[in-house]
Amino acid sequence: MFHSSTVRRSTALLAVILFLLSLSCFAGESPRNIILLIGDGMGIGAITAARCAGPGPDGKLAMDTMPVVGLAKTQSAKNLVTDSAAAATALATGVKTTNGSISVDPSGNRLRTILEAAEELGKSTGIVSTKFITDATPAAFVSHVAGRDQREDIAAQMIVSRADVILGGGRKDFVPKTDTGEGRVDDRDLLAEAAKIGFAIVNSRENMLASASDKLIGLFAPDIMQTQSPEPTIREMTLRAISSLCKNDKGFFLMSEGGKIDSCEHANNIAGCVKETLDFDEAVSSVLDFARKRGDTLVIVTADHETGGLAVLDADADNPKLKAGWLWGGHTGNMVPIFAEGPGSELFAGVHDNTEIPRLFAGLWGSKIGM
Ligand SMILES: [Zn+2]
Repeated sequence: MFHSSTVRRSTALLAVILFLLSLSCFAGESPRNIILLIGDGMGIGAITAARCAGPGPDGKLAMDTMPVVGLAKTQSAKNLVTDSAAAATALATGVKTTNGSISVDPSGNRLRTILEAAEELGKSTGIVSTKFITDATPAAFVSHVAGRDQREDIAAQMIVSRADVILGGGRKDFVPKTDTGEGRVDDRDLLAEAAKIGFAIVNSRENMLASASDKLIGLFAPDIMQTQSPEPTIREMTLRAISSLCKNDKGFFLMSEGGKIDSCEHANNIAGCVKETLDFDEAVSSVLDFARKRGDTLVIVTADHETGGLAVLDADADNPKLKAGWLWGGHTGNMVPIFAEGPGSELFAGVHDNTEIPRLFAGLWGSKIGM
């Protein structure tokens, strides 16, 4: 027999327990650091081709070892088939925009990015790409422009974005015009301006590895990187960024892009697509090594969209030549994979809109993006 006050007490207790349980279910475990690795154009076909040509059809890529897997829908505000600008805006701000727009909404309003939210939390931040660093994917995390071709505007916003480490190609967007005609129309020397606000500037693999500075701009090619020696690899750039960013006790956010998977796919170049995807997976492997030793880092591997409609048709273990078919030379509207590991990773299982990815990051950090 229950006394009515006992009933009231136990009901209240149950309510408190349910509330606490709901908090822990919805909030997830909060990671100190988030590392977002984006394979530009890296659909299931590219991953399958890289696996067949690398560890073999029965082997495992590094991304295959990540325990949580989901799928992301990639359509932009007005097109089922997105471009990298709208997709990167979705992944950076959690908001759909029109193709070509960089972290502004379809009306041109500026959208707050997850990297900017990380900075406001006192975290360190970085961007890495194997293309030019002013390309759509890295640009969307640190700049806001109506058109992705405004590379000089993106570069100018990038150096004052408070990102601590910026590594990739695209030096010509940062320097005055040279004798060969490459360089900024306005003749500003952004690298000199960046040096004045505390950045170390490097332009070779050796100088990148030798620099002790934790505010670092490394531009290793005038435009798109060649992704071959003597340039640093995506793994080396990503690890170099982490080595500086991880000194911050408040944590960090890093976006690292394998940008040339997409370029090779636009040319229906299977050997290049495989090489770039395997290079990207080496970076994934090293990031997982870092994260697994610490336990405080959420690692997400995904793509902005699929490119080429690549299908693997045959891969003979005795004959390393892959047979592959391409649908065409543009992007597709197919879903792309999400691989997740670390605190909060369970939130990424299932089918998501690409805009949910950074919104889940912001939720884990108790911050807001997109406004
Ligand atoms: Zn593309």
